[in-house]
Amino acid sequence: MEQVTPYVHTETKLRGCNPSYVVTSDGVVVIDTPQLPTRAVAMRAEAESHGPIRYLINTEHHVDHIFGNYFFKGAGAVVEHQGVYDNFMVVTPDLDPYEYAKEAIPTDDPAGAAIYPDRAEYYANPNKGTIVFSGDLTLSVGDKTFRLLHTPGHTPGQIAVHVPEERVVFTGDTVFCECQTWLMTSNVDQWIDSLDRIRALDVDYVIPGHGPVTTPRYLNTQRANLLDWKAAVAAAVAKGWSREETIERVNFADRYPVDIGQGYMMTHIQTLNAASLWDKFTGAVPPERR
Ligand SMILES: [Zn+2]
Repeated sequence: MEQVTPYVHTETKLRGCNPSYVVTSDGVVVIDTPQLPTRAVAMRAEAESHGPIRYLINTEHHVDHIFGNYFFKGAGAVVEHQGVYDNFMVVTPDLDPYEYAKEAIPTDDPAGAAIYPDRAEYYANPNKGTIVFSGDLTLSVGDKTFRLLHTPGHTPGQIAVHVPEERVVFTGDTVFCECQTWLMTSNVDQWIDSLDRIRALDVDYVIPGHGPVTTPRYLNTQRANLLDWKAAVAAAVAKGWSREETIERVNFADRYPVDIGQGYMMTHIQTLNAASLWDKFTGAVPPERR
């Protein structure tokens, strides 16, 4: 894994989120888990080589951040916001997260097929949070402080994890660095407020949910990307474009690639981003919920 500071490690080159861990004087804290089974097992072993895992913190409920929890059973208490707990691997009309995780196995982790749990086995104990909070939460572990800040927008239970001693913040998907932003069911206005909250932190390193490690300056780029989506769809609605016309004509596919391993999702992302904002701005009920 990539070493960001002497105590902070992350992995930005795998399909899925950027799983990370921080070494303290009294064990290790894991932040999000790899969705690919063999990578989850390997990361657990690497983290435990530095000491026992004290906590596993999830920054959001999306499958690529939490599915790997299954392979961290017995490795420290799982800590998450109430909004993550409530949505943890819940099947919705839009997405079956268990199937979406499984879909990556043949292409991205063929060896993982042997340890991929069947559905009943998985749901019997997916290793959800046992320390569940609302608002913010601060954990002191050895010589490090973990400030879990509620930063809703991308998802309702979204948090950022600020480790002041390392001058680092883990933002989860509040930041997609140099790759496509997934709006899905996000609240973009809350998201922009949360970027402001993260900008106020005194840090050198921003570890995004996807893409390379970056600096606080990229928070401005993320805000611009969100505002560009909003402005483009607002203009489409003002011109009277239908949902279909908006999906066809409002598109930021040329701006960034999709994060590793999910290039085939480009049209899906563009469609959902445009459609979700169009639905919001027109008050329409999306077709899948009619
Ligand atoms: Zn996400």
